[in-house]
Amino acid sequence: MASATGGPIPGAAIHEDTVVPAGEPWSARIQKGDRLRLIDLEGRQAVDFLCYNAADPADRYNAANTIKLNNNIYLGEGCVLWSLRARKMMTIVEDTCGSHDTLYGCCSIEIDEVRFGKTKTRGCQSNFEAELAKHGLGEKDMAANVNFFMFVPVAADGAVAIAEGLSKAGDYVDLRAEMDLLVVISNCPERDNPAAGGEPTPVRAIVYTPR
Ligand SMILES: [Zn+2]
Repeated sequence: MASATGGPIPGAAIHEDTVVPAGEPWSARIQKGDRLRLIDLEGRQAVDFLCYNAADPADRYNAANTIKLNNNIYLGEGCVLWSLRARKMMTIVEDTCGSHDTLYGCCSIEIDEVRFGKTKTRGCQSNFEAELAKHGLGEKDMAANVNFFMFVPVAADGAVAIAEGLSKAGDYVDLRAEMDLLVVISNCPERDNPAAGGEPTPVRAIVYTPR
């Protein structure tokens, strides 16, 4: 496809280059050493993200271990995504946004009913479950996910909420796989909080081997 900000990647061997429509899920298998670039094409679009050890999906992204071992609740360049069994899964090797959420998990049909009094037909939870089903996984394999490009400030008294996203059109994050992985995203369909800037937009996912 035509190049956009964040691509093309000079010298890279591209294995997949996909525009994930607003509100849709996507998944890919990524080999150790290869990279995933997620591009927020229009800005302020939350990308809900999970990853699993391809050889043993019970060992999966773990938010608490990631917070403890990065000593921070926000993810940025140099941070590692750690697994349930405290193994390195992915390292953020480039990041033009600077802050990604580890706390807030994903939206769902059920929580939107509670929070907003609206009966919806999809949320990131159901997106994840549908995408995981393609790989023989499901609801029981869910974990608290990363939210790339989502900003969740925490006040000194512990007050917390989703704020307007910090990402600009074309901001991207590059993740290096530290083991063979299954990665799953839900390109958040939420319209009732600032996670997707009130209007969900497409993102681009590129799987590649760097030069
Ligand atoms: Zn969502």
